[in-house]
This record gives sequence, structure tokens and C-alpha cells, in this order.
Amino acid sequence: MKYRTILLFGAPGCGKGTQGKILGSIPHFYHCACGDVFRNLTIDSKIGQVFIKHSSRGELVPDRTTIDLWRQSIESNTRIGRFHPDQDTLVLDGIPRTVHQAEMLKTTLEVVGIFYLRTTDQNNLIKRLQRRALKENRLDDANLEIIRTRLLTYEKETKPVLQYYGRKLVHHIDADQSPVKVLSDILRHTLKA
Ligand code: ADP
Repeated sequence: MKYRTILLFGAPGCGKGTQGKILGSIPHFYHCACGDVFRNLTIDSKIGQVFIKHSSRGELVPDRTTIDLWRQSIESNTRIGRFHPDQDTLVLDGIPRTVHQAEMLKTTLEVVGIFYLRTTDQNNLIKRLQRRALKENRLDDANLEIIRTRLLTYEKETKPVLQYYGRKLVHHIDADQSPVKVLSDILRHTLKA
């Protein structure tokens, strides 16, 4: 059985996590942020070290490592009864992040909608990330050069994922609006899906 899935898509700092957390608090929605799965690793584990090495440079973790870890996480959350694949819609945030990852998840996900959170102003994104660096103690948000690398990585490696799934599934959301307006736009489409 494939997981019924909606994807939150967009550049680092566009608000995917904020929206994902809200959606995940609604019954029958389960939010999974790939970055959180990585951040929950212990720092001295082998994968934890791989994560630190790549994320601290603004790069993506290799696809095989990412998908294996993500599968383990989703399966253990199913076992402990947090995620119910037969009833819940999976809200994915930060995965798939390359076309190769999307390919690897082809037989696992039934993607029913993609919410593409777009901002017109890159400086706005940078400001949000820098604010988050202090609030959430995130190393990869602290340094302007790393932020720029992440934005470039997004353009080069992640944006093509949109074409992979095709235009029909993609809903464009204006992410410069207030969080509640963004949520309302997402919900309007979700109710139809
Ligand atoms: P943001 O969306 O703000 O960049 P995330 O928390 O989603 O933040 O990701 C933080 C870092 O974790 C990324 O820069 C990357 O190194 C790693 N990461 C998260 N998700 C993936 C993924 N699907 N594939 C590879 N690396 C990932």
C-alpha cells in the first residue's frame, strides 16, 4: 500500500515547517519533516556525523542515506501508533529533495498534491533563516555563506522535483503572506484533494 501524501515544497525558510506542524496537528494528518528526522539523530552516530558534515556546508545528505533513514523513521512511527497509513494523509516537508529521491520513493508515495510555497524576495528568506538560527540553535542557518549555498542547492537539485511530478499536482501558494493566509490557501486545496 502506498502512503497518501501531500508535499510541502519551497526554498529553505519559506515556511514549510510552520505549515507542516499546523497541518500535522489536525486529526488524520501526519507531518514528517526530513530535517527533524536528521536533527533527532545522536551526534556521535555514524549517520549523525554524515548529517553534520553535509548540512554544515549547506549541502544535501546523500540520497541513499536519506531515504534509508526516512523509511526507518516512518516505519517506527507506524509501529508505535503515531502514523496510521491506512487512515492518515502524510504531510512531507523537505523530502523528496532531489529527482533521484522522488524516483526512490515512487513505489512508496501516492502524491495527491504539492504545495509550492513561493516567495518573491530572497532577502526575506535570508532574514527568516537568520532569525531562526538564534531561536532554534541551527548551525546551518547562522552563516550567510552557508545560507547562500543552501539556496543554490535548492535551485539546482530540488526545484527539478516539481517537473518530475508534473504541473497538475502543483498548487502555487504565496508564501509572502501571513502564516494564517498561507494555511488558508493550503486548506482550500487540501479539502478538494
Ligand atoms: P531547510 O528546509 O530550512 O533547508 P531542513 O530542516 O529541511 O531545512 O534541512 C536541513 C538540512 O538537512 C539540509 O540542508 C540537508 O543538509 C539535510 N536534509 C534535510 N532533508 C534532506 C533530504 N531530503 N535530502 C538530503 N538532505 C536533507
